[in-house]
Amino acid sequence: MGRVFVAGSINMDVVATADRHPRVGETVAGKQVLYFPGGKGANQAVAASRLGARTTLIGRLGKDSFGTELKAFLEGQGIDLGYIKETAEAHTGTAIITVAEADNTIVVIPGSNGLVSAEDVGIVPLVKGDVAVSQFEIPLATIAAFFRRARAAQARTLLNPAPAQKFGRDLLELVDILVLNETELGLLAGTELSDGDEVTRIIDVARRLQASPDQTICVTLGKRGVVALAGREEIVVPGRVVKAVDTTGAGDCFVGALAAQLADSAALREALDFANAAASISVQRMGAGPSMPTAEEVSAVLN
Ligand code: ADP
Repeated sequence: MGRVFVAGSINMDVVATADRHPRVGETVAGKQVLYFPGGKGANQAVAASRLGARTTLIGRLGKDSFGTELKAFLEGQGIDLGYIKETAEAHTGTAIITVAEADNTIVVIPGSNGLVSAEDVGIVPLVKGDVAVSQFEIPLATIAAFFRRARAAQARTLLNPAPAQKFGRDLLELVDILVLNETELGLLAGTELSDGDEVTRIIDVARRLQASPDQTICVTLGKRGVVALAGREEIVVPGRVVKAVDTTGAGDCFVGALAAQLADSAALREALDFANAAASISVQRMGAGPSMPTAEEVSAVLN
């Protein structure tokens, strides 16, 4: 069984709840403050590890109390933290979230995540059969170095280009499996895509983005499930009908589950089915990290 290596962000999400949002220059009294371990890299590593994959997270934490807390949390998830560095040059990545009137505002400060370097990923012991996973909350040059190393080792590369930003074809060409939602696909392909778009149109847009004839592009469609273009093959996995209570981290759960399955040598269709089921469980629970299911829970849904 291969391993999952995630190079990515680790954040503390600080959530303040209030009856209403303050206006600019105003102070309002809040109700609660909550601390959640987050960051796309950490969330995806937690998902892969909970699902039974041997998982290594490569990242950076600040030498501060959030860094200490996040490390303890990740250790408790069975994730190998041997490639996480601590830095005195920046504070731990932090998201300041205000929840009021059923809406939120978010300010994310990358902090130490912005310092994850090509050297950090250059020493990772990737081998054939492993899956190298990354997202856009660490420097793009670091992701490119990570994927080049993975390619040299004959490991597979999986990119989740979120939060969405345009990026060069040189990076796209290093990607074996691209996993993104329809909004991100629209941005990258330079066209508007919305919730109700036909699957055939989504596949057409994905085909335009495909950087090589054997590249796989998986487009997650929320409650509608996922469609994938694998080389020329089209795979449609319908969404599972569940009662969603919080979709935060659904995409991260999907990515972590897909990586875990591919590292375990599953075929793509099987892996997509599994990831779709895993993510459908995560949306039925609050939070990102804590909502990630175990392999037993996913098997119970699939059978
Ligand atoms: P993101 O969070 O990145 O926008 P999506 O909303 O597309 O990602 O969700 C990722 C995956 O989570 C979907 O492909 C699907 O498998 C699952 N999912 C999301 N929302 C629901 C839902 N309401 N019901 C069932 N599954 C869902």
